Amino acid sequence: MEGQKKKYTWDLSHMYKDIKDWYMDVEEAKKLSQKIISQKGIVTNSAKNLLTTLTLNDELSIKLTSLYVYAKMYFDQDMSNAQAKELFEIIDALHTKIQDQLAFLEPELLQIDVKTLEKYVKIQPELSTYNHMFEKLFQRKEHIFTAEIEEILTKMNSLGGSFEKVYDDMTVNDIEYPEVIGSNENDIIIANNSNYYKALNNQDRTLRKNYFQGLLGTYGKYINTITSSYYGSVKHDVFLAKTRKYKSSRQMALQENFIPEEVYDNLITTVRENVKTLHEYLDFRKKVLNLDEIHFYDLFVPIVKDIDKTYTYEEAQQLVLEATSVLGSDYTDILKEAFNHNWIDVYPAKNKVSGAYAIQAYGYHPYSLLNFTGTLGDVFTIAHELGHVMHSYYSSKTQPYINSDYTIFTAEVASTVNEQLLYNYLLNKSSSPEQKALLLSNHLDNIRSTLYRQTLFADFESQAHQMVEEEKPLLPEVLCNLHQELYEIYHGPEFVIDPELKYEWARIPHFYRSFYVYQYATGVSAAISITSKIFNEGNAAVKKYREFLTKGGSDYSINLLKIAGVDMRSPAPILDAINNFKITLEELKNIIRPA
Ligand SMILES: [Zn+2]
Repeated sequence: MEGQKKKYTWDLSHMYKDIKDWYMDVEEAKKLSQKIISQKGIVTNSAKNLLTTLTLNDELSIKLTSLYVYAKMYFDQDMSNAQAKELFEIIDALHTKIQDQLAFLEPELLQIDVKTLEKYVKIQPELSTYNHMFEKLFQRKEHIFTAEIEEILTKMNSLGGSFEKVYDDMTVNDIEYPEVIGSNENDIIIANNSNYYKALNNQDRTLRKNYFQGLLGTYGKYINTITSSYYGSVKHDVFLAKTRKYKSSRQMALQENFIPEEVYDNLITTVRENVKTLHEYLDFRKKVLNLDEIHFYDLFVPIVKDIDKTYTYEEAQQLVLEATSVLGSDYTDILKEAFNHNWIDVYPAKNKVSGAYAIQAYGYHPYSLLNFTGTLGDVFTIAHELGHVMHSYYSSKTQPYINSDYTIFTAEVASTVNEQLLYNYLLNKSSSPEQKALLLSNHLDNIRSTLYRQTLFADFESQAHQMVEEEKPLLPEVLCNLHQELYEIYHGPEFVIDPELKYEWARIPHFYRSFYVYQYATGVSAAISITSKIFNEGNAAVKKYREFLTKGGSDYSINLLKIAGVDMRSPAPILDAINNFKITLEELKNIIRPA
């Protein structure tokens, strides 16, 4: 029994043999930070000192990450474990303390100029490892001020963050959400956010409608306060951007990953130019569901009956292995290693954290946490998380530490490519029209919600910020009208807009992380584009994609994706995704013919 159980849990001793080892590393980290502190004031005065400081700083970062990753995994496995909680608190406190102690480092590094750095690299060629880091640092230089001003701006940051706190407290803790009923009055559900998918996926249309009106109607009741809170948050973004001399708040946000603004504009323009395809899909959805009108509350409910097929973990592994085998035999070998050598914590357990993720500390193999229950969705989650695992594995194996970590912009590409490969594999393999229809329909819903829906949100937040930059006030009607207009454009004339829909923007917490959601849309587009290249061009495309997986964060995200064959500044990858949506819709129409 014990051996059986161990097969499906991760083995943390690959990182630290025992807790004593972990504590020893805490001491090592403290020593390293002392060594770096002793470099204070002399970091950039010679090539040798610069290299010494940067090397020590890498070693320290690696230690801190390892300590953190271990504590997190230990804790997530059993959140009632007091010892795990203690480790977590220790590393958290240590991290804050060291961050404070080493606050001098970045300003000192910023003192160096391009010429001196070039001279230093000639003396100490190992410094060239840090070229990309310095390149990024130099780009930020013009937006960074003296220590005194930086301190004020940092304090402003926590003030700016309080708008999100107000919003969260209000929508999570204070607001009372109403109970609503379905067509059978015994079906009672609370119209809150936790019931979102459950309610909107329900076959009972009355329940969906009442839920929708109950939920968004509630946001409508508080729309003045929610608007003020969002306005405050946007004003804070705009203030920071102006102070830091960025052209716009959007430019500032995108600069974090060095994404040019044209990527954002290109996404919105291309999707807007191709909304017809979404309109066609909505029309088809309406017909299949046999409705006179299509409303917001008809967008999520499955149009194809779920097949109650479940998969064992071994079957799921096999499917993922076969689906990704096109990426090469060594890719398969590493996947097998992950499956067979305790890189993964597979099943739900008492006190285990929910959800799924992949995580890695440099120098160790990546790990993944799952909560596998055997659904088709769970099989896709394995493909997704193992996509992250493989990206981390190849990047950290190939890149020096400083260039190993990839950005969020590129991260979701590796995971989504695996999902796309699995989708295509299952589609080709399935002989029953029911299963085919289910896959096609899931695929359409997936693209609708990641590409079209997230682009609409990206469009919304971009315009809201622009208004504030033009000193136009954000009033409830302004935001509600903007949201409604966007729904009209994206969803077309057949789509019926209920009075409550204009409040939908008010229930999106992601808007407090400005200019984040567009990456869902660019990520899925890049992944679909890469996957279709893999099928159409074969080995040449695989080779490029495999190279991308080894690149970590060694260059700007846009350049890295170009290695994989997609240029996110051009409409091509977005059009590939839209075209894929179109083809999928045609295929589904061939199977389901509504009256
Ligand atoms: Zn992911």
